[in-house]
Amino acid sequence: MRMEFMLPRELRDEVGRRPIVYVPWGAMQWHGEHLPLGQDALKVYGICLRAAERTGGVVFPPIYVGYETLKLYGDYPFTLEFSRDLVKRLAFELLQQLEAAGFRVIVLLCGHYGRRHLEAIREAVEEYRAGGGRARVLAVPEYEFARDLGYHGDHAAKWETSIFWYLYPSMVHLERLRELRGVYGEDPREHASRELGEKAVKAIVERLAEEVEKLLEEVEEQ
Ligand SMILES: [Zn+2]
Repeated sequence: MRMEFMLPRELRDEVGRRPIVYVPWGAMQWHGEHLPLGQDALKVYGICLRAAERTGGVVFPPIYVGYETLKLYGDYPFTLEFSRDLVKRLAFELLQQLEAAGFRVIVLLCGHYGRRHLEAIREAVEEYRAGGGRARVLAVPEYEFARDLGYHGDHAAKWETSIFWYLYPSMVHLERLRELRGVYGEDPREHASRELGEKAVKAIVERLAEEVEKLLEEVEEQ
């Protein structure tokens, strides 16, 4: 289901059967000493793969092009800050081209959620729609599907650490975390766990898959 690994024949079959594409969108951004730089994209990538297992469709490679990263707020090493225009343009052109490739439901799952970064993506979606875009588009941060659990998005703190821990068990290094620089939310050393991550991921995947099924039904009714 990973688009870049698929043969044309496999893609033709899947687009004919379930014309859904998931785009995991993150950033290259500091996430404390305990998490990798690609956390935002890898997090939503893991979620997209699980959702696609349920709904069918394909998963686009993770995107590491973020605007309004921590770079705007301090000296956070290895963080890449791209421009608003680039993010918006990339989202817009992706929508156009994925539609042209035959996809009818396009999910932009945002693992990086600087407010202005999300705004840029949403503007692209609006312009795509206003320009007659025919695919159904869902552009949301993953925490939208787990608000009732108390998850409203954090940064390398309790929730992101837990989710990452569940998805990539060997890639969380809490023992390296001394000061909470660039960690926003509850202290992951006290509050993060794989179990919490599992609970959050399962809820997000289930609800995301339901939403995607609905959108696909709408498309099929047309
Ligand atoms: Zn993050």
